[in-house]
Amino acid sequence: MRQQTFFSPTMRDVPADAETISHQLMLRAGLMRQTAAGIYTYLPLGTRVLHKIQAIIREEMNRAGAQELLMPAVQPAELWEESGRLDDYGPELMRLNDRHDRRFVLGPTHEEVITSVVRDGIHSYKRLPINVYQIQTKYRDERRPRFGLLRGREFIMKDAYSFETSEEALAETYEVMYDTYKHIFRRCGLDVRAVEADAGAIGGTGGTHEFMALSDVGEDTIAYSDHSDYAANIEIAAVSPPDREQEGTSEALSVEKGYKSGEAAATAAGLPMSSVITGRLFYIDKAPVFILTRGNHEISDVKVSNHFDTLDVEMATGTQVHEQFGTSSAFIGPVEAPSNVTIVADQSIRPLVNAICGGNQDEAFYVNVDHRRDFHVDVFADFRIIQEGDPSPDGEGTIQFAEGIEVGQVFSLGTKYSEALGAQFLDENGKSRPMQMGCYGIGVSRTLAAVVEQHHDEDGIIWPKAIAPFDLHLLVINPKDEAQLTIGDNLYEALQAEGYDVLFDDRKERAGVKFKDADLYGIPIRVAAGKKASEGIIEVKDRKTGEVTEVQAENLSAYLN
Ligand code: ATP
Ligand code: MG
Ligand code: MG
Ligand code: MG
Repeated sequence: MRQQTFFSPTMRDVPADAETISHQLMLRAGLMRQTAAGIYTYLPLGTRVLHKIQAIIREEMNRAGAQELLMPAVQPAELWEESGRLDDYGPELMRLNDRHDRRFVLGPTHEEVITSVVRDGIHSYKRLPINVYQIQTKYRDERRPRFGLLRGREFIMKDAYSFETSEEALAETYEVMYDTYKHIFRRCGLDVRAVEADAGAIGGTGGTHEFMALSDVGEDTIAYSDHSDYAANIEIAAVSPPDREQEGTSEALSVEKGYKSGEAAATAAGLPMSSVITGRLFYIDKAPVFILTRGNHEISDVKVSNHFDTLDVEMATGTQVHEQFGTSSAFIGPVEAPSNVTIVADQSIRPLVNAICGGNQDEAFYVNVDHRRDFHVDVFADFRIIQEGDPSPDGEGTIQFAEGIEVGQVFSLGTKYSEALGAQFLDENGKSRPMQMGCYGIGVSRTLAAVVEQHHDEDGIIWPKAIAPFDLHLLVINPKDEAQLTIGDNLYEALQAEGYDVLFDDRKERAGVKFKDADLYGIPIRVAAGKKASEGIIEVKDRKTGEVTEVQAENLSAYLN
């Protein structure tokens, strides 16, 4: 590709709302442009990287026995009524009507569609198991789209769905997908940690793990230990004591009663999932501190008061709302631990989710949300929270906290969707049973941004080789110089013939501009034909190490090998 006509407009001054490095660098290097809030156009440079990531995903998914298909983004609302999620999913679900006033949604995920397709196509155990996947655009009307591709309203996801005849078979596929995810992220150059997680709006009865790319800008906090296998999203860290024997060894880990997920809590209370909001209670100097951990709410939206007076947090507790964790956590406190609390919130707070926060030492809450301005918290269950420095649950090491970007999640769904949508099969004995399902998501566009968060320096991006937009960046420092241009042209042809994907900077720009752009683009190897071109010498720079070597042009391919 000749850079002269390569459509990759660089940008010197990025907009003030580009807070994260990946957002800034991807705008500056011309990988993408914002079209609307949380909605982006991928420019050629960004598209190339997306294709590389998608190729890795396809290779690994196919290797694992999954089959690619493609489902529609526009989905009939009836399917979502059947699963019960039309209401439960909340305001993140984008809804629209056609000209006949039929109701549709823009798919935020595809459990409903795939389950209905499989229901109509498979009736016998003889046709199972299957595992299908797609790479497709998803829509979620995130309350606060931000950080560029990290939290978009339109984004690219790889989602896979498996259908099995037994729980054991599902557990095996889950393992295979778990391993496949590790391979995919390793090949993309991402440092990820798999953590036990909450199932959120996807739901399901089995286990679930999130894959977290460690990064300061991550919106999730994980509890882990370098000296043990334990790793969990703090959303569930408190309510999944791995070993009840351990009770009493650490107060922080003792759990009397608790629910592994918001769904379990909602079921127990006879409430829809939409009536549960994630929260967590920490104790700081013995004072209970209520933390909303899920949903993209803003501190200013949340007020805590006692049941009878609608006082705001400051008034109710005498303390300012004093910190914010990431974007999706409000930190409020300390809060009295009354038997009844009313949380007054803006209706756009996404009603959620999971394992319910504590009240006082012996109590936890769920929040009864009704998409209205006011909602209600009742005392619900009890547990205490894990804290940094605690011993590990498996007896090894101590707990550390780290921020992570959720780049993927695997879910063991069980029969949640197959029962709701009637995806049954006849087993060996001719008995009708619901299929066992799993689903497995990777945020493709988010992965791209997460890679930039982990691989950059003050000059720009440093692409891992496997997903770099080009293999090589070839620069002619002064295209008016005959020797330089000749060497450049020859190398451009020769390198491409050898299979290298080359970006050729043949522009009539100053050397400084070319070097700056090259560093910004972050292509792994830079080859420059400059003053010594007349002696047949070129300069090779490794973007990652910064190491520069002079090489005879005719020895370049040997050197690169
Ligand atoms: P989050 O907790 O960040 O809101 P999620 O748990 O709602 O994500 P899932 O339903 O698990 O997301 O979807 C699978 C994957 O899709 C996520 O692991 C993430 O990588 C990606 N993803 C989810 N929401 C977004 C978004 N708004 N923008 C970009 N990628 C996203
Ligand atoms: Mg979400
Ligand atoms: Mg999540
Ligand atoms: Mg998730």
